[in-house]
Amino acid sequence: MKVYFLGTGTSQGIPVIGSNHSVCLSKDQKDKRLRVSVWIHSDDFSVVIDCGPDFRQQMLQSKCETIDALLITHEHADHTAGLDDIRPFYFKQGDIPVYAHERVLKNLEKRFDYIFALENRYPGAPAILANEVKENENFKVKNYLIEPINALHGSLQVFGYKIKGFVYLTDIKTIEEDQIYKIKKCKVLVINCLREEPHNTHFNLEEALDFISLVQPEKAYLTHISHLLGFHEEVQQKLPKDVYLAYDNLEISI
Ligand SMILES: [Zn+2]
Repeated sequence: MKVYFLGTGTSQGIPVIGSNHSVCLSKDQKDKRLRVSVWIHSDDFSVVIDCGPDFRQQMLQSKCETIDALLITHEHADHTAGLDDIRPFYFKQGDIPVYAHERVLKNLEKRFDYIFALENRYPGAPAILANEVKENENFKVKNYLIEPINALHGSLQVFGYKIKGFVYLTDIKTIEEDQIYKIKKCKVLVINCLREEPHNTHFNLEEALDFISLVQPEKAYLTHISHLLGFHEEVQQKLPKDVYLAYDNLEISI
């Protein structure tokens, strides 16, 4: 199984529009970050987690040609605003299975009513198969078991996902003991790390590293990164063994 980091940036991406911050002006390709998303794939499996505003560009860059399922962590725009661009997949494959919390599905139905419409559909509008994800209820996509991991993004519930030894958690600030138990000693943990300064709804660097020590994965990758965290090369040098700053278009094997 392979995991392709489609995007590793926080909500505005890096560079931030109009910013003169040195990280935004960096010439290092690893300092350019689209909005967070990953593509998990093997010969018989292709799943994308989240579809933010950069989804089209990410699908072209990664050469992802089919999607068995789209898993959504939560409704924020940097994770969902690209939903309309599932159209080419819909034309090729038919209704695209989307998995999300009931609250998130309702939110998407409000914002993308034409995608959910059952009557008087606009010709060319994509359609999805909405699947509700419930806390502590595992589900299968093809033959792959997927375990939702429940966490909080400030006061907002978010889902992370565990697939085989791979765990993807983004936009979390707090997580209960019973959920940590499910991911202990996993092979690869991806976890959000915004910047060094504390933030109300995101882990900062210290919190992300503490969380990694608690989970004890074989390897950990940091994502959902703000330009305020610093230059990729400099931050990477400060990280402990087996902890890596993810970057766009990085692909790892699991
Ligand atoms: Zn986010």
